[in-house]
Amino acid sequence: MTVLAIDIGGTKFAAALAEPDGTLRARCEVPVGGDPSAVLHTLLDRFPADAVGAVGIGSAGPLDLGAGTVSPVNIPAWRGFPLVAEVEGRLPGRPVRLAGDAQCMALGEWWRGGTGHDSLLGVVVSTGIGGGLVLDGRPYFGPAGNAGFLGHVVVDPTGDPCGCGATGCLETIASGPSMVRRALARGWAPGSVPPDARALADAARAGDPLALAVFAEAAAALGAVIADAATLLDLRHTVIGGGLAAAADLLLDPIRRTLTARRPATLSPVTVSATALRRDAGLYGAAALAVLPT
Ligand SMILES: [Zn+2]
Repeated sequence: MTVLAIDIGGTKFAAALAEPDGTLRARCEVPVGGDPSAVLHTLLDRFPADAVGAVGIGSAGPLDLGAGTVSPVNIPAWRGFPLVAEVEGRLPGRPVRLAGDAQCMALGEWWRGGTGHDSLLGVVVSTGIGGGLVLDGRPYFGPAGNAGFLGHVVVDPTGDPCGCGATGCLETIASGPSMVRRALARGWAPGSVPPDARALADAARAGDPLALAVFAEAAAALGAVIADAATLLDLRHTVIGGGLAAAADLLLDPIRRTLTARRPATLSPVTVSATALRRDAGLYGAAALAVLPT
């Protein structure tokens, strides 16, 4: 049975047909602009209904799994959008399964990323920070579908206010925009390039002490949250994905040092790797939702 895998991000929608073994084909991407519902239907138009036996969708959240609705932070036009019903309307009779985009990244890495671990934590570090869990070979979504909302674990109660209403969330220290904001506030001068996370990573690689300090702080905060999650859930492996996975050379070693320092010596070590599937991790996870038994 061929399934349709859909990845709903804040800036683009992607989709592909997936074979039961996870082989992706006929993949396409549409940038989000204007009416996101029209973009969704444009994407669905690319796939003949008779080729689709089931549908798996990974979406930016928050989600309400029970209602089948999504409210992606970066798509203001979708608040409580009935994504599952919308896709079911186009593909009647096909089962449609939904999960968070970071959960799909974790599931994709578990299924096709070759980690060899039955349980893992996936962390998406991008404009925000999300996470997903696979525990004992099964994805864990939580009752509403928002398990793994790692970006809003508080790491510094005296830190900066977060958009979620709390103070000092991981996201205020280690998301791409937060790192840039923290560097600019301390006097980082990016020169002629746009002040974004890529420029900050380039500055760190060139030895800029401000950029290096901001990356070190972000990695320490990520490491602290990963260590606590691993201690809570007996995890042995974490995969880092999202746009900042491109800065794995700056993040992974300090994350590993924090993990070593914060883990109880009597527990198993936790390994950390960058995504093997890169931008397709979420699509593989969406395919896994549709292919694997529930
Ligand atoms: Zn927050």
